[in-house]
Amino acid sequence: MKKNDIKSMNKIKGALYGFAIGDAIGATTEFLTAGQVRNRYGSIDDMIGGGWLNLNPGQVTDDTQMMLCVMRAIMKSFYEDLGLTFLQYCKSEFIKWLDTNPIDVGNQCRKAILSLKADEKKIFQEIDNDALGNGSLMRAVPCAIISKLDYNTQQGKLTHNNEICTSLIRYYHIVLENLLYSDGPYFSIEMDENEHFWPSNPSGHAVDTFYNCLYWYKFTHTFEDAVLSAANNGGDADTIAALTGGLAGAKYGFDSIPKKWVDKLDKNVVEEIEQFVQFLLDLQEIITNKKEV
Ligand SMILES: [Mg+2]
Repeated sequence: MKKNDIKSMNKIKGALYGFAIGDAIGATTEFLTAGQVRNRYGSIDDMIGGGWLNLNPGQVTDDTQMMLCVMRAIMKSFYEDLGLTFLQYCKSEFIKWLDTNPIDVGNQCRKAILSLKADEKKIFQEIDNDALGNGSLMRAVPCAIISKLDYNTQQGKLTHNNEICTSLIRYYHIVLENLLYSDGPYFSIEMDENEHFWPSNPSGHAVDTFYNCLYWYKFTHTFEDAVLSAANNGGDADTIAALTGGLAGAKYGFDSIPKKWVDKLDKNVVEEIEQFVQFLLDLQEIITNKKEV
């Protein structure tokens, strides 16, 4: 975290809740085309569950579950004196998570985590330029919150080791970190509001996912509009709406997120997010006290 972070807590909570809420809302329309969403729902304007995973309203998918793994790894690496690194904790959390037989897991993540489990010493995957799904990008929020870019690119390589996925994590991290801790400019990528721009196919390819989330965050004006627009566009809607929600939550703040969605969100997810928020507040206090000594 950077200075003035307590003031940023509304934005930090916005990013965390925004991500999980985007996942829960987008899961309803995952794998549908925008036309199929229109035919089936007219327009999604609430957190209703269902979708191909037949979720309860407020239930999240692998995106949030893996983000929580990274959050737990960060906290353990700060506080548990077991001599393990952030990456070792991250690996261990991914393996524990896969062992719970999660409701959904991407093919590359499953393959990579099983290979980590099979080899005690293994951390990074072998370089694989074809592993271009969004499974590592979707875990980028927590390390951006603690301003650890190296942690973020490394956690990505646990499952997706190639320059494209690493670069996208880096871009997302920088955009989110700037939203949280600076007054802008938020983009190094120029995007003209007047220019006709439509995101590419909302697929699970990491590049498509990245541009889609950037688009919905940038060309909407409220948290609600950003997340619902991403969800109504279908495709890999849970991941795209989650990553959009992370950015929009940071931009507009936790206070801007409709309370009915926070109330409906899975209680275990809320509990874990709140633990992380408390961890950040404690960390801030430690940093402040150290400066005073
Ligand atoms: Mg998912």
